[in-house]
Amino acid sequence: MAESEDEEQEIYECPICEEEFDTESGLSIHEGQMHPNKQIDELEDLVDTFEEETEKALDIKKEKESLKQRVRSLRDEKEELEETVDDLKDTQEKLKEGIEEKDDKVQDLKSKVDNLKDDREELKSEKHSMERKIDDLENEKESLKKSLEKTEELMLKLKHQVKEFNEEIDE
Ligand SMILES: [Zn+2]
Repeated sequence: MAESEDEEQEIYECPICEEEFDTESGLSIHEGQMHPNKQIDELEDLVDTFEEETEKALDIKKEKESLKQRVRSLRDEKEELEETVDDLKDTQEKLKEGIEEKDDKVQDLKSKVDNLKDDREELKSEKHSMERKIDDLENEKESLKKSLEKTEELMLKLKHQVKEFNEEIDE
């Protein structure tokens, strides 16, 4: 009987100081006397847990904030990069235009040089033909001169003849 009573005997252990009691009421009396702040301690534990959770939540909030800031600064960076890309595109366009302008100028100069070459060829052949004309004219002049000389000679002869004729008449 005593043995079975022993086996059925439950042990109530104080969760704070681990002292053992045979009955539940014994334990509550012990707790009330030795650990009157048990409920307060439990409340404090709850508050501690709540504070820990709150801190965790705050940490998460902070992390979220810093992630937001990072996203914002990444967005800013992206915008800056896009602006830079736009600027580079403008510069590229301007360079292309400049190259095209230079190409046009080179083409212009080339066609001018070609025209000058043509002009020079034309002038050369014109000069040749003029030289030929001058030669012709000089030849003509020479032959006219000769004709004139002959005519003068002839006139002189005729004059002389006339004179002689006159003298013969006069005699
Ligand atoms: Zn205790």
